[in-house]
Amino acid sequence: MDFKQLLHRLTGALGLHRSSDALAREQYLALRNQVPVLYAIIALNSLFMAFAVWHAVGAVKAFAFPALTIPIMIIRVWMWRKSVPSAGISDIVNVRKSLRATAIAALVLSVSLSSWALTIMASAPVQYTLYAPLFTILCMITCGYCLVSLPVATYIVMLTGTIYIGGAMFLTGDIMAIGMAANIVTVSILIIYMVSKQSAQFRDIVNSRSEIVEQRAHANHLAHRDQLTDMPNRRAFLDALYQQQNDHAEKPVAVIMIDMNGFKPINDTYGHAAGDKLLVNAGKCLTDVVGKTGIVARLGGDEFAVLFGDPKNAEWIEFRVKQMLYEMNKPTLIDDHEIRLGAAFGIAHHPSMPKDPMELIQHADIALYDAKNSKLSAFSFFEGSMENRVRRRTQIEQALGDSLQMANIEMHFQPIFELKCGGHIGYEALARWHHPELGIVTPAEFVGAAERSGLATKLTIHLFNQALKTARKWPEHMRLSFNLSGSGLGTSNLDIIIPELLAEKNFNPSRLSVEVTETALLSNTDAVKTILGTLQNIGVRVVLDDFGAGYASIGYLQEMQFDGIKLDGSLIRKISHDESSRNLLIGVLHLCKAINAEVTAEMVENVDQLALLKSLPIDFIQGYLLGTPVHADETHKLAKSSISIDRHLGIG
Ligand code: C2E
Ligand code: CA
Ligand code: CA
Repeated sequence: MDFKQLLHRLTGALGLHRSSDALAREQYLALRNQVPVLYAIIALNSLFMAFAVWHAVGAVKAFAFPALTIPIMIIRVWMWRKSVPSAGISDIVNVRKSLRATAIAALVLSVSLSSWALTIMASAPVQYTLYAPLFTILCMITCGYCLVSLPVATYIVMLTGTIYIGGAMFLTGDIMAIGMAANIVTVSILIIYMVSKQSAQFRDIVNSRSEIVEQRAHANHLAHRDQLTDMPNRRAFLDALYQQQNDHAEKPVAVIMIDMNGFKPINDTYGHAAGDKLLVNAGKCLTDVVGKTGIVARLGGDEFAVLFGDPKNAEWIEFRVKQMLYEMNKPTLIDDHEIRLGAAFGIAHHPSMPKDPMELIQHADIALYDAKNSKLSAFSFFEGSMENRVRRRTQIEQALGDSLQMANIEMHFQPIFELKCGGHIGYEALARWHHPELGIVTPAEFVGAAERSGLATKLTIHLFNQALKTARKWPEHMRLSFNLSGSGLGTSNLDIIIPELLAEKNFNPSRLSVEVTETALLSNTDAVKTILGTLQNIGVRVVLDDFGAGYASIGYLQEMQFDGIKLDGSLIRKISHDESSRNLLIGVLHLCKAINAEVTAEMVENVDQLALLKSLPIDFIQGYLLGTPVHADETHKLAKSSISIDRHLGIG
């Protein structure tokens, strides 16, 4: 061990290493109580001594020390008391400064006290020679003990006293004084030893206490943080909500529920690492926008929430939501693919905190539900009427769960025509449900409800059976177009059931077209491709429905070989009076022809559209102009009468 190490160990044993922040704070707090006592002892002792030696050495010498130091000590204690303890200890720089000042004050005081005692010793008659040192050493031992939480100050006091008084007594040459000096040195060493032990204990207690505090803080952090994004979690969000109720119940408040669009399929397709990346990104986007104006939390899965305490007004909230939406719509690079997910926002804005803060979350949830089902906007503010819609959705889901009620959903059929020769080539089966209590339930409503409650395949089989029952009675050349529900297709066994039912009903697979939308492909693309591929292998046509309504259709054209494309109604609606719509349609048609798919235009509503479509490379058309969906019985009559476009329009 070299000298440096030895010194390091020695200073360590004496508790002279730079203390941790926590220890420094505890030392500071302990000294706040100890120093006034210490000053009081010094003041009293020095006054006693001054009175005792006054006659022997005169008033000036006797009272020099107390007269100088007592006012200074009073000022120092007063200043210390004035500082607010919590503010004082939070600023560690100040704490350390104050500890240093205490050590310096200890040095100054002990040097002055010892010097004063020596002066008295030198000028007083001999009977006082032992009285002054005794007084000084007693005073210093007491002070040393008072300063035990700051060992360096104790050592300063003890060493100064020992050197000055012990030294002076030793130099007198008097045997009794030398004996007393030796005694002072021994007592000082023992005191220093005991103080070093006690300060080590003090240090250990403080350190283990601050460790416990740190561990508690860490556990608290973990319990309130989302591990993946390191954002506040559901618990932290609820805590913040209740805190808002406690602190600012009268202020306006807004809770926003956010749900990412199409996250699950991406997670399934690209893997969890990709999903995690998207979630972290989304969290960052939201946190960046909200900043200090509110709290953003990840509630779980792809669900996030924002709390705005005291938002200015609805416009302010809407502006923030639009910013968040803008950020979340930016693409994220996953496996060289640019993925844009976007999100839906449900907003509950109240003029003051409701009695039950959970009401805000429920309302925001309902608004989110509304936003997710809305094609117009990605965000919704909660309104009372939404509760009715949610109630209706729940009722629909319950009704679907009852097989007897599902049996009431029946198929209607909309005629499809060949555009160029005008012949009637088949029907698209469209489901209809008239519920005794709920009234007309639209396909969008019940198909969505079936998907949410995992009944999509059951519903599809029921509808397909009905459609086949009708279609098998049509002439052999008539085709049946059947819509396959999007979500859950990948995990269904429709690639087995559809061929079985076709065989059972003796219906030629080449007469069947299944229509799928891009949402079907979004989830579990590979599995969906396999199922559709199996159907294609037995001769079923696979048609991409609503082409041009979404964003990603073009990508899917590469992924899968479609036999047909059905143009979305939005591409047809304005073609007769808007040139840019016309040009867009022509561009899309080029694309369809490039992949060799049959093209159907639907939602043809007027003769102008029909005339225009006739000049374009389109194979089939359907729409209210040529026939609305009709009951099964009606299709048999129509099939027999061999209608055509011209006859239908009264031209032929
Ligand atoms: P889709 O497959 O695009 O069906 C076309 C929708 O447009 C049908 O609405 C149809 O009645 C309507 N339509 C037909 N011609 C016109 C027209 O000229 N103008 C206008 N404005 N609309 C027209 P519907 O029956 O309400 O169906 C809506 C959607 O619900 C369908 O869109 C389809 O995605 C889904 N759907 C309908 N029936 C079924 C089904 O049996 N199974 C599944 N999975 N989905 C279905
Ligand atoms: Ca369709
Ligand atoms: Ca369509």
